[in-house]
Amino acid sequence: MKPGKSIKVLIISAPSGAGKSTLVNHLLDAGLPLLFSISATSRKPRGTEADGVEYYFITAGEFRRRISQGQFVEWQEVYRDHYYGTLRSEIDRISNEGKIPLFDVDVQGGINLKKIFGNDALSLFIMPPSVAELRSRLLRRKTDTLEQIEMRVEKAASEILLADRFDRVIVNDDLDRACSEIMSVVNAFIGER
Ligand code: ADP
Ligand code: 5GP
Repeated sequence: MKPGKSIKVLIISAPSGAGKSTLVNHLLDAGLPLLFSISATSRKPRGTEADGVEYYFITAGEFRRRISQGQFVEWQEVYRDHYYGTLRSEIDRISNEGKIPLFDVDVQGGINLKKIFGNDALSLFIMPPSVAELRSRLLRRKTDTLEQIEMRVEKAASEILLADRFDRVIVNDDLDRACSEIMSVVNAFIGER
C-alpha cells in the first residue's frame, strides 16, 4: 500500500449470518470493477474453501509474525484464537489491476478500515431483520456447531449497536430487495468523482 495514494474501497460488515456473503457474491457476480480482498486467517478451511481463494490460510504463529512485521492494514482476533487480517500486499494487488478492493470484514474491522480510508471508502453494514432470524439462518446454513452459533448470536447483539458507525445500513429482509438496494448504492459510489 503506497502512502498518499488515493483509491476507492468498499467495506462490507455484518454480524455473522446476516447474509453478508450472499450479498457480497451478488456484487462480485455483477461485473462491477470490484475484486474481493482475500484476508489472511488462522482458522482452518471449511468445506471446499481453498488457500488463496476465500482466505490465505496460515498458522496463528505465522499470523503473529506478520503482525509484528507490520504486514496488516488491520487485523482482529474475531473469535478466540481465530485471527483475521487485511494484508497491505492485497490492496496493492487489487489497485495495480485498477480495481476497487471489496473488504468483507467483521464489524470492528469495518470501523477501523473506514477510519483509515475516510471519504475514499464506502462502508456498508448488513443488518438482519432480527436476532431471532439471524439464529434461524445460522441453524439453516448448517456450517457451525450449536456452540459456535450461540457465540456468533451473542456477538451479534453488541455488533448491531455499532451499525450507526457505517455510512449506510442495508437491512437484509427480503433478499431480492436487499440485492437491488446494495447494487444501487454501490453503483452510485463507483460512479462518483
Ligand atoms: P454471513 O456471510 O453474513 O454469515 P450468509 O450470506 O452465509 O451470511 O447467510 C446466512 C444464511 O442465510 C445462508 O444460508 C443464506 O443462504 C441465508 N440468507 C441470506 N439472505 C437471506 C434472506 N434475505 N432471507 C433468508 N435467508 C437468507
Ligand atoms: P468466517 O470465519 O465466517 O469466514 O469469518 C468470520 C468473520 O471474520 C466474518 O465477519 C468476516 O467478515 C471476518 N473477517 C474476514 N476477514 C477479515 C479481516 O481481514 N479482518 C477482519 N477484521 N475481519 C475479517
